[in-house]
Amino acid sequence: MMHNKEKSILRVAFRRIRSLLPVTLMVAAIASVGPAEAQKATDKPNFIIIFTDDQGYGDLGCYGHPTLKTPNIDRMAAEGQKWTSFYVAENVCTPSRAGLLTGRLPIRSGMTSDTRRVLFPDSDGGLPQSEKTIARVLKEKGYNTAAIGKWHLGHLPQYLPTSHGFDTYYGIPYSNDMDRVNSVDYKASFADPKIEYFQVPLMRNTEVIEKPADQNTITKRYTQEAVKYIRDNKNKPFFLYVAHSLPHVPLFVSKEFKGKSERGLYGDVIEEIDWSVGEILNTLRKEGLDKNTYVVFTSDNGPWAIFNEHAGSAGLLYGSKGTSYEGGVRVPAVFWAPGKIKPAVVSNMGSTLDLLPTISKLAGATLPTDRVYDGYDLTTLLHGKGGNPRNEMIFYHSTSIFAARKGDYKLYFYSNDPKGYPQKLEKLEKYQLFNLQHDPSERYNVADKNPQIIKEIVDMVEKHKAGVAPVKSNLEKRITQAN
Ligand code: MG
Repeated sequence: MMHNKEKSILRVAFRRIRSLLPVTLMVAAIASVGPAEAQKATDKPNFIIIFTDDQGYGDLGCYGHPTLKTPNIDRMAAEGQKWTSFYVAENVCTPSRAGLLTGRLPIRSGMTSDTRRVLFPDSDGGLPQSEKTIARVLKEKGYNTAAIGKWHLGHLPQYLPTSHGFDTYYGIPYSNDMDRVNSVDYKASFADPKIEYFQVPLMRNTEVIEKPADQNTITKRYTQEAVKYIRDNKNKPFFLYVAHSLPHVPLFVSKEFKGKSERGLYGDVIEEIDWSVGEILNTLRKEGLDKNTYVVFTSDNGPWAIFNEHAGSAGLLYGSKGTSYEGGVRVPAVFWAPGKIKPAVVSNMGSTLDLLPTISKLAGATLPTDRVYDGYDLTTLLHGKGGNPRNEMIFYHSTSIFAARKGDYKLYFYSNDPKGYPQKLEKLEKYQLFNLQHDPSERYNVADKNPQIIKEIVDMVEKHKAGVAPVKSNLEKRITQAN
């Protein structure tokens, strides 16, 4: 039998315990921060960017090509998002890559030039150390990082991937048509390419391990490296950048794919790349990483039209590599992360410039505030939870603003040959304006009917120009020049 006094003591004790409960829970929560955070750290998503070279907007089954068979990328698009207005940062390799990896237009990093549009084997420059690549952002969050394939942001040690946040590098450091021997006719060397015509090095980290690189097996070997890397890093968050050397000319393909496609040699090359994408995605599935890995597939610029059937197709778009018409800068782009990315076809604007802010957000990284970014975080749209922040795109051709897009409309200030060569720009006497949602092939100039839209785009460009600080180009200096 409990006395009243004892009951009263118990009641007081009970009330005290109850009043202390939130504090107790808080203490328990604080005590659990360590392991919970550790668990969270290992749950960080992985990222893979697959970046092809000179593949056009129309060069995939899922983008409407009638004879190319790309079942792996088509499946990736069906399970993820296929973007139909996705732009690169520039219309040729080096500046396009600089834009993707830094989230900044190449005009800001000095990775564009009016005299030499890309880096060459005799170039003395590269991506400056002051730039912060996606790999550097992720290293700070504990990621392992690897670059496989074409780099083209400087082949000297201080510019290679291992000096820009990547733990390892395996690949050809610049375009696969460089270091060409002069003893063979230029056109013949591309029409019937042989390994020995192109003395490009294959590097592991900062060492040349093969020269000339056997390009017949290069797509296969990049793939084997990628698959091994994924397996070796399955227990840690990783960022893998796979930048294929192909389908940039000269075209090479392994014997398993040679003569197999309905689209000739170019088709064989694309179908081997599609196989490669399948190998990567299947490895993620087998290793149980498919629910925690974001994979992006895109290209660095439009097809190199002067190479005729060895070049790809921009599909319904006008122009090609070397122009900032849609065919030179709008590329296929597929995002895949089952369970995270909401399957859709997205016609909103996006850009390779957006990959750094998007990946940073997903990895929980904060971007530095000491520089201007030209990219936007696309995560809400990828996850099907909101609109697209990108409503404009500035199209540079070297240091000139060739065109600009705002909403549905793209305004041109210059023109050039739609095949990209010769590269001479002509300043337009009268602006040209196209509604890209209605007229993606840019056939109907609607400038006369839309003076207000022209004014808005011109104002936007002037505002943009005012925010660009001039920097020296890193593409012009040659190794042979005196330092
Ligand atoms: Mg390219």
